[in-house]
Amino acid sequence: MAPPAQSSLEAWLRYFDDLGLGPFYRDRAAIELPPVEAKMASPAARPQLPAPPLAAAAAPPRAQESVLTVVPSLFEGAARAGLEGDTLARIREDIGDCKRCRLCEGRNTIVFGDGGAQAELVFVGEGPGHDEDVQGLPFVGRAGKLLTQMIEAMGLRRADVYICNIVKCRPPQNRQPERDEIATCSPFLDRQLAVIRPKVIVCLGSVAAQTLLGTNKSISQFRGQWFDFRGAKLMATYHPAFLLRTPSAKSDVWTDLKKVMAELGLKPPKPKPRSA
Ligand code: SF4
Repeated sequence: MAPPAQSSLEAWLRYFDDLGLGPFYRDRAAIELPPVEAKMASPAARPQLPAPPLAAAAAPPRAQESVLTVVPSLFEGAARAGLEGDTLARIREDIGDCKRCRLCEGRNTIVFGDGGAQAELVFVGEGPGHDEDVQGLPFVGRAGKLLTQMIEAMGLRRADVYICNIVKCRPPQNRQPERDEIATCSPFLDRQLAVIRPKVIVCLGSVAAQTLLGTNKSISQFRGQWFDFRGAKLMATYHPAFLLRTPSAKSDVWTDLKKVMAELGLKPPKPKPRSA
């Protein structure tokens, strides 16, 4: 089998193994699953520039208000005017050795994001955890490995998508980021999304979904539904960390990801035929 096809098949089997469907494939034990690899280029040395100021009045995003109770979104606070010609490298340089909020106090590394500016699909999580804080990359711990399996089960590679978080520094004890921390950091994510201009944004977990959509509703009330977000289609699904605690929810997430695949014109890799 050609390497790309085998890689896709391996990813498909890994994800379906998590779904509890693996035993249906009798010859799957013969497949050696490679380790996950991810890398991010270091930003070039440039003078630090200030982050854009937060707007005083935040307009609600273009969510489907018939479904959500929309409240002023802190994410909408980013001032994107005057950022023509913005790039991911420029945004990273503007972040610099950021001390704009208290999350800088306990962090080891700023976790900016991983992926290319041409990505059609962006996953947005909540914030870095321990492994991410150590490595400087998003979603590289246990939950990250599961996310990678999900991406590969969609027939993609991590390098094909962009992965980032609402806040760039690890909250202490992995607590949820506070509202003021999100308000301070979210302009950078706003700029990242403005540069990438993805077709689809998938929010992983309630913090990302509630921040981008400007709602305080539980994610279970709007998970799997499409929303407009500045020209992109946005869907919220469960965070991989939640799936590690609640494996029964994996089928819900796979249902959501199949909708994303349909939107992007992707087909899941075909399983290897059973041996005679
Ligand atoms: S979380 Fe964001 S705003 Fe806060 S210190 Fe880190 S990079 Fe700066």
